[in-house]
Amino acid sequence: MKDKDKKLLSFKESWQTNLRAIKLFWHISPKGMLYRTLDTVWSALTPYVGIWLSALIIEELAGPRSPQRLRILILTALICAAFFSLISALLNKVRQVESTIQFFQMDALLSAKMLELDYHISDDPETRKLLSTIRQNMRGGGWGIQRVPDNFCSLLEAVFSLLGGLALTISLFISKVPKEAGSLAILNSPLLILLFLAGILTATALSSFLSTKADSYRALSSDIHNLSNRLFGYFGFLGQNKKLAADIRIYRQDQICKKYNNNKTDTFHSKGYFARLAKGPMGLYPAAATAVSILFLTGMVYLFVCLKAWAGAFGIGMVTQYIGAISRFSGSIGTLFGTAGSMRNNASFLKLIFDYLDIPNTMYQGSLSVEKRNDRKYEVEFRDVSFRYPGSSDYALRHINMKFKVGERLAVVGMNGSGKTTFIKLLCRLYDPTEGSILLNGIDIRKYDYQEYISVFSVVFQDFSLTDFTLGQNVASADTYEARRAELCLEKAGFGERLKELSSGLETYLGKSFSKEGVDMSGGEQQKIALARTLYKDAPFIVLDEPTAALDPIAEAEIYSKFNEIVEDKTAIYISHRLSSCRFCDNILVFHKGSMVQQGSHDRLVADETGKYYELWHAQAQYYNEQAQKAGQPA
Ligand code: ADP
Repeated sequence: MKDKDKKLLSFKESWQTNLRAIKLFWHISPKGMLYRTLDTVWSALTPYVGIWLSALIIEELAGPRSPQRLRILILTALICAAFFSLISALLNKVRQVESTIQFFQMDALLSAKMLELDYHISDDPETRKLLSTIRQNMRGGGWGIQRVPDNFCSLLEAVFSLLGGLALTISLFISKVPKEAGSLAILNSPLLILLFLAGILTATALSSFLSTKADSYRALSSDIHNLSNRLFGYFGFLGQNKKLAADIRIYRQDQICKKYNNNKTDTFHSKGYFARLAKGPMGLYPAAATAVSILFLTGMVYLFVCLKAWAGAFGIGMVTQYIGAISRFSGSIGTLFGTAGSMRNNASFLKLIFDYLDIPNTMYQGSLSVEKRNDRKYEVEFRDVSFRYPGSSDYALRHINMKFKVGERLAVVGMNGSGKTTFIKLLCRLYDPTEGSILLNGIDIRKYDYQEYISVFSVVFQDFSLTDFTLGQNVASADTYEARRAELCLEKAGFGERLKELSSGLETYLGKSFSKEGVDMSGGEQQKIALARTLYKDAPFIVLDEPTAALDPIAEAEIYSKFNEIVEDKTAIYISHRLSSCRFCDNILVFHKGSMVQQGSHDRLVADETGKYYELWHAQAQYYNEQAQKAGQPA
């Protein structure tokens, strides 16, 4: 498929897509669109009043020269000009304010959609790529949704301007050249008038076509533009990336960037792709458009109007009126064609946005309530569960069968990539099993109301994330919270001493995004805060995926010693590849290459010399012994 075919939609499809986008804007921001509409209509019509009054003044000066009438005309022109400017300025201001909000609202709509999507869809690389392309189109080339209100206003302006221009120009065609004008009387011929109108239309259409053509090169180059923007954004701003600051200095990664920043043939450089386009078609087409507009359009209008005035069809004042009105009129036709072209160029970018907004959620949504049991007696069962990630041909989990009850301490161990995190994601219903089923108290978890079901889990994921809000808000995951309870959870999670050092306590911002006094927490401190967040939620199931990976040995030992106190009567599912930290669990599941190869207590598993657990345990024990020997300590 050629690039051109790939990008441009049919006229019908492009019109429907634009119409849907306009409706979306009216729905999201009715006030914004109303002010835009008023401002546009006002700006389209008011210049004609000025043109009309100027014509009357010149007519008066060239004709009767009545001082009283001139005074009235000039005063009226001045008052009108002042009044129109005042209203324009006011409308423009409100329009600007509302327009800024409009784009935040559209951005928020895109983010909200991502949050509404089923986890497995939002996690799909295709979904992420689509949203990323949409945002790049918006930021890089200004394509997509932000063009919609501007195009809508351009259309409105063109239509109202056409109507205004028409009203002031009709008399040009009606007023007749007197018979005494001789051969110039041909200007009265309807055929000549038709030819004149057709000429204006053709020149305007040609000029607009040439402008739109230039714009279409930008649309067709959007992929290369986005890629270049991404490269430039990444390499150009590498120095500002806080995470990379140390590595860049040690490994001189900035050397790699030079290629992208200094090369003369770089896409954005003066000899690059876009510069070549600008010197070529993107520059030549608009130049040709201007030439056509001036030579043919303006030329024809001046010739026709001046000849009619010369032949005595109307006075000198009307020349200004007609030339002014026709210039605006033909400008409006130009805007009309230009906007239609811009809408068509933009339609394929809008389609991407609607493709994204229309992605349906496919996860089955049950309606059963999760029984709120005071005795917290919940039982979970995996019944022959197998799972493949979307788009992957390999199974991440195969035939998992297991049961556990609330109050138990369950450990899931295994090497990296053995399927431990996938097991948790299925349990929390971030994904549904490809085969088999998961049951809560004997009922398939798909039948429960989704929000209720996930409310029974509190998870610290391996790659957990905290927000840049306050410590208290992070612990409670809410704007307002019970301060004492948040403090207790932080103390339980081993953050008590650090909390005492923070002068703003729970009100301390994490990171500096929102406050200069914000504190950057270490990896271990963040992990403790994440643990406190799980405790604050007080759900019957606590899932900890490598919860101590970022902790120092003392902090880790402290957490384990208090583990029972931390978890209380809840079920703890504990994932780790550090086997020594799982010894206290009642039941240990051993995963290997997506299968559950063993299950049982530590003592039983370690006694089985042929088992995977034995192998892992001794491999780790040997490592720790060697470390201890190197440090000169008895093993
Ligand atoms: P573990 O937690 O034991 O390290 P995981 O459950 O993360 O293992 O991964 C199990 C398998 O599933 C691995 O082979 C991994 O590459 C694959 N996997 C994990 N996440 C995804 C994903 N989002 N898409 C495709 N494959 C994945």
